[in-house]
Amino acid sequence: AAKVKNKLEGVWRLSKLGVPVGDDPGKDSLGISEGLLQAIAKVIEFPVASMLPEEAFSVVRKSFDARKILKEAKFVYTVDLDVKTLLELEPRAHDFIFRLEPKLGLVEHLSPEKTVSGDLISVVNECRRVNGDAAAGEHEPVVINGTGGGGRSKPRVAVVGGGPSGLFAALVLAEFGADVTLIERGQAVEERGRDIGALVVRKILDMESNFCFGEGGAGTWSDGKLVTRIGKNSATVLAVLKTLVRFGAPDNILVNGKPHLGTDKLIPLLRNFRHYLQSAGVNIKFGTRVDDLLVEDSRVVGVRVSDSTDKLQSSSKDLKFDAVVLAVGHSARDTYEMLLSRNVELTPKDFAVGLRVEHPQELINSIQYSDLASEVRKGRGKVPVADYKVVQYVNDKDEDVSQSSSSKRSCYSFCMCPGGQVVLTSTNPNELCINGMSFSRRSSKWANAALVVTVSAKDFDLLNLTGPLAGIEFQREFERRAAMMGGGDFTVPVQRVPDFLQSKLSETPLPSSSYRLGVKSAKLHELFPAHITDSLRQSLSMFEKELPGFISEEALLHGVETRTSSPVRIPRSNETYESTSLKGLYPVGEGAGYAGGIVSAAVDGMFSGFAVAKNFDLFDGAI
Ligand code: FAD
Repeated sequence: AAKVKNKLEGVWRLSKLGVPVGDDPGKDSLGISEGLLQAIAKVIEFPVASMLPEEAFSVVRKSFDARKILKEAKFVYTVDLDVKTLLELEPRAHDFIFRLEPKLGLVEHLSPEKTVSGDLISVVNECRRVNGDAAAGEHEPVVINGTGGGGRSKPRVAVVGGGPSGLFAALVLAEFGADVTLIERGQAVEERGRDIGALVVRKILDMESNFCFGEGGAGTWSDGKLVTRIGKNSATVLAVLKTLVRFGAPDNILVNGKPHLGTDKLIPLLRNFRHYLQSAGVNIKFGTRVDDLLVEDSRVVGVRVSDSTDKLQSSSKDLKFDAVVLAVGHSARDTYEMLLSRNVELTPKDFAVGLRVEHPQELINSIQYSDLASEVRKGRGKVPVADYKVVQYVNDKDEDVSQSSSSKRSCYSFCMCPGGQVVLTSTNPNELCINGMSFSRRSSKWANAALVVTVSAKDFDLLNLTGPLAGIEFQREFERRAAMMGGGDFTVPVQRVPDFLQSKLSETPLPSSSYRLGVKSAKLHELFPAHITDSLRQSLSMFEKELPGFISEEALLHGVETRTSSPVRIPRSNETYESTSLKGLYPVGEGAGYAGGIVSAAVDGMFSGFAVAKNFDLFDGAI
């Protein structure tokens, strides 16, 4: 009887509900359309779709699927059915719900605690709630600026780095009542915007305030893709997304299958995030770089900082802290060197290098959507601007023929920016590296993506690079070569895809490029060692099979993409998040090798905040 009652309570989650494009209001609508009711009625075997009350359903996720294997492109929904509301408004549905059975991946009965609903009041309480910490009480607001830990004095925590991982670590720690100082070498978004403007318009690179450094970290002038491989429906990812919504992100990011924000949405969001942190007592120091750690008795007791705008570095001062959360991202090469000099354990990590390929967006739309391509209309149409994601394994021909070894190397598209632009992510004028960004509409006429192959210690060895920072030296080598090939002044070396395949310099006029600082035809096929170039060529040919038309005279390769993920890991305890080699140091986020993207960095920052709070007895009960 309990089982029967259970079926008629709570929520049924219905997944993979397909609605053809013609029957759907389009990508911007997250409501319950007639077409969606038809799909729902089919799953619950209810005969008259129009009799199902819209109020009983809520859209949990909406994606667009235009794969070629489908007969027609469709929107694919996951929908929650609230049984109580359904039966109140349409009692005739009773028998249909009664007969409904769970089906793997299609129909699932959710126990009440599995449904994440309600507004997020604090990220701490949201995480406590979904992690089952009953002591916190549901949605009970935490006391901001409380002493935490039952009246003991507040621990002073430095969070170094204002990217997603640092911001979320600071947020959690502030909500737990720690005395938090957020130290960021770059500038707040308003000033950073002006510095980026000077770079794009006048070619002036501020080495401390640029596409990598400044408020919001590397993710601010980005595409703002919020997709992650760490489980998009997990409670912690939802807690991050809800926090972003609370600071001004559109709430469709909670539902979209491929959520993204775009730079224009990220900037006001970060401003709101900052104001909240300040109101929670966080002391934010922009334009302040951590140059050294203060260590006493094998423990971090503070940091040495200097004004990052002071070129003479005469402004250095020491600040004392009980703990230092290090969230510096993967471009802080000087910080890695400082850590090494302090004997902090660093281990090299595999990452990926390659080139960024750019096509006209219309070409990608027509490859992906065929007849539907006209529906895109520069991001204002019914279907989303087309993207792609390709992964292949290619034969790795080892350079050292005497070993005649051959293994597989993975090769993939990365950080694809539909309707976006190629941007300069160098932090030093002698080095040249690029990435992609977009605005929320994704309405530019170009589509760009990195095309990269994995590299590891074996590749670093070939250039006689060894030691913990070998990967960084490897990146630097190709960034310098790219700068030289471009001829300096941040001009990017480019080559048409067919010419790259045939080792030919591209003739002018070149296809247009979204890169604003200028491009120059160059022999990109000579930039990387032959085995990496060979892997890139093999993968291009394989991508062509998946996306016919990808190899095109209009497709332009840009050099060089080197900072795909951190080349270094800073080992830490899984439980306490503390560095295994230095007490009081908490390495987090992408730069520490524990994240690869905005959301995963934010999640890592959030968990590190919990771990630090726990280590300082700021809350009772494990998470
Ligand atoms: P970061 O965001 O790198 O933040 C580190 C911060 O630390 C920086 O602000 C830096 O100034 C500061 N810092 C460094 N050293 C010091 C020091 N010594 N003292 C004080 N402060 C210091 N990811 C996605 O998921 N989706 C995307 O669409 C996407 N697009 C991207 C586009 C571009 C152009 C770039 C560059 C990256 C993109 N990424 C994207 C990757 C994403 O931005 C990163 O994975 C993410 O920002 C990592 O977060 P983090 O907090 O670990 O480090």
